[in-house]
Amino acid sequence: MERFREVRGTKDLRPGEIERWHYLEKIVRTVMDRYGYLEIRTPMFESTELFSRSIGSDTDIVQKEMYTFPDRKGRSLTLRPEGTASVARSYLQHNMGRGKAVTKLYYMGPMFRYERPQKGRFRQFHQFGTEAIGSPAAWYDTETISVFYEILDAAGLGPLTVRLGSVGDPGCRPAYTSLLKEYLRARSDELCGNCKERMEKNPLRVLDCKNRSCGGAIESAPSLLDHLCEPCTAHLGEVRSTLEKGGIPFELDRSLVRGLDYYSRTVFEIHHDELGAQSALGGGGRYDGLLEDLGGPPTPGVGFSAGMERIITVAESLEIEWDGGDEPMIYVAPVEETAAGDVFPLVRRLRRRWKTEGVREVRNLKTVLKRASRAGAGIVLLLGAGGALTVKRMDTGDETGVSVDHLEEEVEDLRKAIAARRSEERDS
Ligand code: AMP
Repeated sequence: MERFREVRGTKDLRPGEIERWHYLEKIVRTVMDRYGYLEIRTPMFESTELFSRSIGSDTDIVQKEMYTFPDRKGRSLTLRPEGTASVARSYLQHNMGRGKAVTKLYYMGPMFRYERPQKGRFRQFHQFGTEAIGSPAAWYDTETISVFYEILDAAGLGPLTVRLGSVGDPGCRPAYTSLLKEYLRARSDELCGNCKERMEKNPLRVLDCKNRSCGGAIESAPSLLDHLCEPCTAHLGEVRSTLEKGGIPFELDRSLVRGLDYYSRTVFEIHHDELGAQSALGGGGRYDGLLEDLGGPPTPGVGFSAGMERIITVAESLEIEWDGGDEPMIYVAPVEETAAGDVFPLVRRLRRRWKTEGVREVRNLKTVLKRASRAGAGIVLLLGAGGALTVKRMDTGDETGVSVDHLEEEVEDLRKAIAARRSEERDS
C-alpha cells in the first residue's frame, strides 16, 4: 500500500529542527515583551469576506491563493493567509481600544496560501508580527520597524537592509495611480501577461512584479515618493529621521509597494542578502483605513509580519548556532536486578527538575554507556544493590559514588561543570 506523505507545500517540523523554532519563538517573545506588545491568538479560519474586504479583492492572495471552503451549513470560510485582518477583526469585536491611546499586539502561528511551492515558499508557513492600533503617529511606524529589526538582530541575522517607502494616502495616491497607468500603457509591450492585466485594475501592483521582462519598465517608472502630498511627505520625513537617530540603517526604496491593498503611507521590508530573489524576511506598513473598511470607527494602525521559515533558512545558511536545547540529559540505569524497581521513582524525582531518561533492564556497563550516549545523555546514574548510586560524567568519564540524600546537589554541580566545559569549547 502506498504510504501517506505530507501534503504538497506543507512540512513536518521534526525533532532536530524544532529546537531552532523554539529558540526563535523565545527570542520573539522576549523582544515583544520588552517593547510592550501583548500576545493575541486568533482562530485559524475566519469568514472569507473578512479577507477579501481587507486584503483587497483583486490582490493575488484573494484571487488565487486562499484556501476557501464551505462549511456544512454552506458558509464560506477561509484558512487565514495572514494575520492583520484577524487581529483587526478581534480588536473591533472586543472593543480592545477602549480607554487606551494605542493597543499593541503580537501574534505567531501558521498561515495558509495556495502558492506554487518552491524554495522558501510553502502552502502552510509561519509568521510572527505586530499590530499597533490607535495612533497615526510616526513614532509607531518606527517602533514597528525597530521591534522587527531587534528580533532579527537578537537572532544573530545580519547584515540586514531595511527598505523604506511610502504608498501615500487616499489624498495623493489616486493622482499618482493615473499617472502610472498612463506611463505603463505606453510601455505595455514590455510587460508580462499578468502585469498587462494588473496595469488596468491595480497599476501599483506592477511595481512589485518579480518577472525580469518587466524590470526595465519598472525601473524608469515615476515614483510615488515624488508625488506625495505634504502631510505624507512630512510623515515619511519623521520616520526617516527617527530611524536615523535610533541608529537603524535603512535605504529609501523608490518602487516599494506591498502585495496587500490596505496599506497607507509607510511601507517597509527587511531583507537579507543570502536569500536571493526571495530575500524579504518580512515587511509591513501603516493601514489607516483598514479598520474603517471592516466596519469600525476610523482607527489608524501599523504593523509587520515576518516569515519564520525564511528566518530559519538564513540562520542555517549562516551556520548560526542556536543552541538552546542542549542541556545535558540524565540517564538512569540499574546495574543489579534488585535495583531495577528503584529506577522509576528516581527518574520521576529527577524529572521534577531536569530532563531525564531511565531504563529498567540490567545490561553490561558498555551497553548502558553506548545507549546513554546515543540518547544524548550528559550524566549517567548507575543504580546498584542496596541503594548504591554512582554518577558518571559522559564528557570526561569521571565517576563518583553519591548518597541519595545529596543527589540533587551533586547533579547540579555536574551540570554546571559540563556547561562550563561546553562554553569553553565553543569559545576556543
Ligand atoms: P506577506 O504577508 O506576503 O507580506 O509576507 C510576509 C513574509 O512572510 C514574507 O516576507 C515571507 O518571509 C513570508 N512568507 C509569505 N508567504 C510565504 C510562503 N508562501 N511561504 C513561506 N514564507 C512566506
